[in-house]
Amino acid sequence: MSQQNNQIHYYIDGDVLFIVEDTKFRVHKNIIGLASKMFNDMFTCATPTQSDSDNIPEVELEGESSKTFENLLSHIYPNTFIDINWVNIAEFLRFSEKYIIDSVLLSAMKFLEREFRKNPLYSLFLADRYHFKSIYKESSKLVLDKFPEYKRNEIFSQLSLYTRNCLIKKYTSYTDSLAKLANVDFTSGYLHCDECNKQSEHDLKINQEFIERSKQVQILPLPLPPTPPSGTRKILFNSIGYKTCDNQFMTFQLPRKFKKHFGVFEPLECKKHKKDPKFYLYIELGE
Ligand SMILES: [Zn+2]
Ligand SMILES: [Zn+2]
Repeated sequence: MSQQNNQIHYYIDGDVLFIVEDTKFRVHKNIIGLASKMFNDMFTCATPTQSDSDNIPEVELEGESSKTFENLLSHIYPNTFIDINWVNIAEFLRFSEKYIIDSVLLSAMKFLEREFRKNPLYSLFLADRYHFKSIYKESSKLVLDKFPEYKRNEIFSQLSLYTRNCLIKKYTSYTDSLAKLANVDFTSGYLHCDECNKQSEHDLKINQEFIERSKQVQILPLPLPPTPPSGTRKILFNSIGYKTCDNQFMTFQLPRKFKKHFGVFEPLECKKHKKDPKFYLYIELGE
């Protein structure tokens, strides 16, 4: 197979030759070595074969794509610019994990932190594969919120068995709790505030309100899809009134009852200091 010089990364003063497929990249040991721990070790420890023509070492990357290598060099080299995007991120991650290119791994992680809301299932898939804990948790919030839809997506079957099981278990537990919502006694154990002089009337009023809200989120009769977790929480946490005891109920009693019935919900990290953030179910990456 005849080899050609790469049009972008073939530098006359380069001191190492990479051969990928049928393409030659003549690049600089110090730049590649700074980017990749593995190549750095290779340059300092090993004695690669000398090419006849230029007397510079030659490294062949077998089974790699020349386009991926070119893009990666363009990301690393200061004279060219290729940003990470949804199309190239999987290849960037795969390559930079294999050759220990930490700065690219970090760029890819930053990209996902910024963009995961536009592509939650794919972000979860990548976070799952490369053990990005925080992106894993954040993207799982959005995936669980539209789980029936995401479950039908092709990418869902590419998630690890662990992650698929966690998602299914979490969502099933949610729909079970949703179906049993009418059984929750929202006022049991509630200590009304001192100003509340008609406690049993207040209990009754609150209970009636929550019977109405339960009907709203259950959308009976089925069929599915059920109300998304964030929607259920939002409906249940609407204000019930402006009296002191109403506020006290919303601040102390309802969160306790909700957590006991549905488990822990959290806002997105990037939204948690905003006013009235949405709250979501989530799963976390095991060790
Ligand atoms: Zn791991
Ligand atoms: Zn009261």
